Amino acid sequence: LSFSSCSLPQRLIQNIESAGYDMPTPVQMQAIPAALSGKSLLVSADTGSGKTASFLVPVISRCANFRLQHLPNEKKPLAMVLTPTRELCIQVEEQAKLLGKGLPFKTALVVGGDAMAGQVYRIQQGVELIVGTPGRLIDLLIKHDVELDDTMIFVLDEVDCMLQRGFRDQVMQIFRALPQPQILLYSATISQEVEKMASSMVKDIVVVSV
Ligand code: AMP
Repeated sequence: LSFSSCSLPQRLIQNIESAGYDMPTPVQMQAIPAALSGKSLLVSADTGSGKTASFLVPVISRCANFRLQHLPNEKKPLAMVLTPTRELCIQVEEQAKLLGKGLPFKTALVVGGDAMAGQVYRIQQGVELIVGTPGRLIDLLIKHDVELDDTMIFVLDEVDCMLQRGFRDQVMQIFRALPQPQILLYSATISQEVEKMASSMVKDIVVVSV
């Protein structure tokens, strides 16, 4: 399997090539086609496996295709990635910008440590993807500063780490604000607690382990 056989937007394939990704990694080979078809996934993958691109490629493809088909007056976020830390969010957003270049795909970072007003302003200008930490996203939700009724993909990165940090209830609160999204759940280890969270979000989830 190659990236060009995945029926991705031509510009996304170019961006993947420019990033120097010649061949999909094992987790990408399994996760990308399944996620493109709209399935929810529970993926066990470590840092270094190419896990970030394994969710960003389908997220970018689905968001860009959606925007090319629907032209709303007001652009609301189509996808959300939650990670446990500000640093990880910054890395994920950087990779998303690189892979989404030239496509209808804008991103916003929603993390602590930066002024909230700037983050809210950016979202209100219209973005496809929000990358954030649970705490700051809850702040935005409580203040009604973000509308999530078009958010169709919910990615949870390093779920085991989020649970260790006590983010369970916040993650579930954010999930409940979304309209039955596709779930892409990533964890280094699939504990019972991770499985429980996955099954509380979606009935049919495809398990991917490499
Ligand atoms: P990650 O597991 O997401 O932390 O990715 C680890 C590193 O692998 C990152 O620096 C990516 O840019 C890089 N990477 C991701 N996918 C590929 C690929 N298919 N070929 C080569 N490098 C990749």
